[in-house]
Amino acid sequence: MIFNNKILICGPCAVESEYQIMETARSIKELINPNYFRAGLWKSRTNPNDFEGLGKEGINLLKKVNKEFNLPIITEVANAKHVELIADAGFSAFWLGARTVSNPLFVNEIINACPNNNFTVFIKNPIFPDLDLWVGNINRFYNAGFTNVNAIFRGFYPYEKTKYRNLALWEKAIELKMQLPNLKIICDPSHIAGNSNYIFEISQEAMNLNFDGLMIETHYNPQIALSDSKQQIYPNYLKSIIEKLKEKTSMSNNYFFNSQIIDFRKSIDNIDFQIIDKLSERFNISDKIGKLKNDNNISALQLERWNEIIKSRGKYAEEKNISIDFLMKLLTLIHEESIKRQTFS
Ligand code: PEP
Ligand code: MN
Repeated sequence: MIFNNKILICGPCAVESEYQIMETARSIKELINPNYFRAGLWKSRTNPNDFEGLGKEGINLLKKVNKEFNLPIITEVANAKHVELIADAGFSAFWLGARTVSNPLFVNEIINACPNNNFTVFIKNPIFPDLDLWVGNINRFYNAGFTNVNAIFRGFYPYEKTKYRNLALWEKAIELKMQLPNLKIICDPSHIAGNSNYIFEISQEAMNLNFDGLMIETHYNPQIALSDSKQQIYPNYLKSIIEKLKEKTSMSNNYFFNSQIIDFRKSIDNIDFQIIDKLSERFNISDKIGKLKNDNNISALQLERWNEIIKSRGKYAEEKNISIDFLMKLLTLIHEESIKRQTFS
């Protein structure tokens, strides 16, 4: 099972009642036994009439889960007071939500309220795709001496109606990994999806991209959940998802696969350098044409010539199984660069 070496966090969106939390934890322990049991105490809701969590009253219930099922607890903190409360309760991990991380002053206050820097911290991406803000918050924890800092990718606010509740701009998580290569990044398919039907496909995508784990909202009965009811899943469904997920490693153990991929990559490397050589050759010729035009007082842009280029190259590209649309974009870029060089050199 792939979760032998990945992080798995599951549990309900929020602590709702003793029955709900114990029932959910019991099945999760029995069926899944994750690294952490998650549940929110303070829920930052858009609508003030929605369930905002049990707050401090729920802490004892999470303590009970920890004691009875031996499950490490993780919960969300959104201000300094929350940190003090969970530190008093003896929990050793927390996450920062997508709304909290939009305010670096709050993040500083949270850091200052931590009685030590031994906490395991998970930092969600901000609601808006601001990579620098995400990186900045992670660095705030590093600067304060925290060593167990991780990130959670939960998607970004969509400005229009989309399939998922939030936009899965995977490239932002990949950029984060490129900036902080040692950072573990897990994916929260629940908040990306907004719907239980998409949890598997998003989780598999995260595995394909070699994410370090998953945080998945799980409830003993999602239909009666007081928050995020549509996206929470039954513990036995989570179990089946985990069993079905396929891991993609960055390098295979299969010798034949590796040797073939190395050969293919060598060919691609050569071709890329040939493309650059050919581009340079093309620009040199076009510079000469530019000089000729200039000496004879002829404008750089010759529309008939451009139309002729598009027509002949388009047809040839199609024969070679390259889409006209792609070729047009490429030629336009090359042509614009030629005109720029002819005009300003
Ligand atoms: C959550 O994980 O329960 C939560 C509120 O998530 P987010 O901050 O990603 O909206
Ligand atoms: Mn939630």
